Amino acid sequence: MSDYTELSGFDDEQFQSTEVKIYKNEVDNTDRIGFVPKETLAKDYLEKLKKFGKSDEEAKQIIAAKGKKGSLEKVERDGQIYFRESTWLTATTHYHAESKKRFVCLGPGEICCKKIKDSPITQFITLICKYMTKPNGDLIEPIQAEVKPWRMGESKYVDLKDKDKRSPLIKYDIEFKCTDTKFQKGSMNVIFNEGVALKRDPKVEKEVMDRAAALWPIIGKKFLGERLTEDEVREMLSGETINNEAPKQEQTEVKGEDLGSVLDNF
Ligand SMILES: [Zn+2]
Repeated sequence: MSDYTELSGFDDEQFQSTEVKIYKNEVDNTDRIGFVPKETLAKDYLEKLKKFGKSDEEAKQIIAAKGKKGSLEKVERDGQIYFRESTWLTATTHYHAESKKRFVCLGPGEICCKKIKDSPITQFITLICKYMTKPNGDLIEPIQAEVKPWRMGESKYVDLKDKDKRSPLIKYDIEFKCTDTKFQKGSMNVIFNEGVALKRDPKVEKEVMDRAAALWPIIGKKFLGERLTEDEVREMLSGETINNEAPKQEQTEVKGEDLGSVLDNF
């Protein structure tokens, strides 16, 4: 799915006024990070499952199974029930050099693929909180955390998704030692014995969740690519000639897709 439906409720004003930079770790530096779950109203979550053809009963079973495994957390706030879950947005995009614009591919064989020479790329984005730590990696108390979008290619996504399947990332922090600034490579170790540091301070946790709620609707457009209509794409590419040797469109669906990962793309 190269879809990020959250962007439909996009607020231009909010987007313009939000100064947010993508997460980046520096070589030889170790960061402690936590994955910031996306919070969805329980009734909306149920509706989304049903949109994928699940019956009411099946949807409830899926929610119960995820809850048991710990990958879905139930929270109550202001009398409403919400579910929290690790979430990635994904999109397959082209880059139009002339207008310096990255935009969502319309689909294999469409005008964008015919006119732009380079293959579209598939990227993933999630939100993390980066904790303030001492140089040795120890947490600074009281807890301080900054919310940042983390954009990645398929291999890192698959690696993290695999970790998430084995031990839900909403339950643990991660230690990320960077060995390559440019490609953000390094070792990512789950810190199993300390839980999520954010949970130690409800005030900081609330600040992080509020900040994340404001960021989820805009990070797709800002850091993956704009969703343009076919007409807009045609207009932008009107000066380009058809590239007869258009490269093959990459698969846009999340590999090893199951209902769980389909949901991640909401
Ligand atoms: Zn395309």
